[in-house]
Amino acid sequence: MKSEEDIPPIDDDVLVRMPDGTVKQRNPLSGTQVWTVPGRGHRPLTAPVLDRVPVSPNANDDTCAFCKNRYLETPPEKSRLVRDVTALGEVNWRQIKNERAEDINQTTAEFRRVPNLFEIVSFNYWAQAYGHEPTEEQRRHLAEYLSSPAGYDHILSIVTQRLRAGGTSDEKIAELSEPELLTQAYSYFCGGHDVIIARRHFVDGATDATQLASSGTLTPEEHGQYIKFTIEAMHDLYQLDPNVRYVSAFQNWLKPAGASFDHLHKQLVAIDERSVQIDGEVSRLRKNPHIYKQILRFAAQRGLILAQNDYAVALVGFGHRFPTIAVWPLGPAMAPWEYSAEQVRGISDILHAVHAATGAEVPCNEEWYHCPPSVASKVGMRWRILLKWRISTLAGFEGGTRIYLNTLDPWAIRDRMVDRLCELASLSDELEAKGQERLIAPLRIGRDCRVDTELLD
Ligand SMILES: [Zn+2]
Repeated sequence: MKSEEDIPPIDDDVLVRMPDGTVKQRNPLSGTQVWTVPGRGHRPLTAPVLDRVPVSPNANDDTCAFCKNRYLETPPEKSRLVRDVTALGEVNWRQIKNERAEDINQTTAEFRRVPNLFEIVSFNYWAQAYGHEPTEEQRRHLAEYLSSPAGYDHILSIVTQRLRAGGTSDEKIAELSEPELLTQAYSYFCGGHDVIIARRHFVDGATDATQLASSGTLTPEEHGQYIKFTIEAMHDLYQLDPNVRYVSAFQNWLKPAGASFDHLHKQLVAIDERSVQIDGEVSRLRKNPHIYKQILRFAAQRGLILAQNDYAVALVGFGHRFPTIAVWPLGPAMAPWEYSAEQVRGISDILHAVHAATGAEVPCNEEWYHCPPSVASKVGMRWRILLKWRISTLAGFEGGTRIYLNTLDPWAIRDRMVDRLCELASLSDELEAKGQERLIAPLRIGRDCRVDTELLD
């Protein structure tokens, strides 16, 4: 264990304010250069919503293909989380694996894990590049699924829908024999691109279409289950094939952030490479093993710590193309699935509060970074989750110089977030005093945070 004095300071040029107020940033983990130009920071984050389209009371049932009444529009479910409430009001979360098509409406899924209909890396990719084959269990599961009329119809409709979306004409599809169609079904029983879908499209009691249910509108408990479920799915995808080098986890929220549905979901993609980003970070870390401690200490010294509990800290990121908040689990570096249930809940609470304070109206990407099992654990790459606000568009200046312009400097992000976190915390205290559920879990905010480098030991 290194004491504070033994850790050299971070390079001076990672965050510099020029005489005119321009803030130059360089990301210590990726090398990305970003400038923030003064006088642009106080604009609203998103354009005002002019059109408040009313929604019906049952809008949560069938607004999009991820909604409750349309379970069969997604490929066969790998697993779902169900929330049971006993007669005494006790809440239990239960996981159901491989629900059959005919039983799919027996329970309400709080979260579902389903294969992505439009995979980035398909079963065929793994089959052709690596000779990947379905396991005995997967073959049996497919056969069982097909053995019921509801399952059979579901698979045929999913395969047909996929072919049609890929440009295959209806005449061509009609010419395919059923066995030919069914061979396509393996993608949905042994593929490596999954979606984790939340139950709600809109918040409970929504009256207009702007009241979408985001990560931040979940209860802290629901968000904790969402994160735990995602971690389990990630761990599971590493078992897909020996050639899986990394499992990418991310959440695109709203269309400007790349989401195809305004219905909360995360994605997990198993890939056969580690990505430039991960390799870059690992090689920087080999040269400078103190890098995370340097960043954390620097963020604390420059007033960029947003929130903290016993298990995680949220800080304003610097050197990112978009305004970014980073959530860092505390303690020694581990893979996401190595954290205890209590730690995962603590990390989730901080991430959830950051989402709530950002607001459901802000398009954003949540990106997970972790050390893949193929990298020797002694490198110590840390699991982190970044939340990037997609409020600006890259332009010609960026393309030509690889210097990115960002509209909010780190302190402007801090001020917005700390104010909002304080409001949410005091609203939560009021609700709790009335015996109601908190909006965000208890946490320390801004100046109340106590951060030192030993938190990462
Ligand atoms: Zn929906």
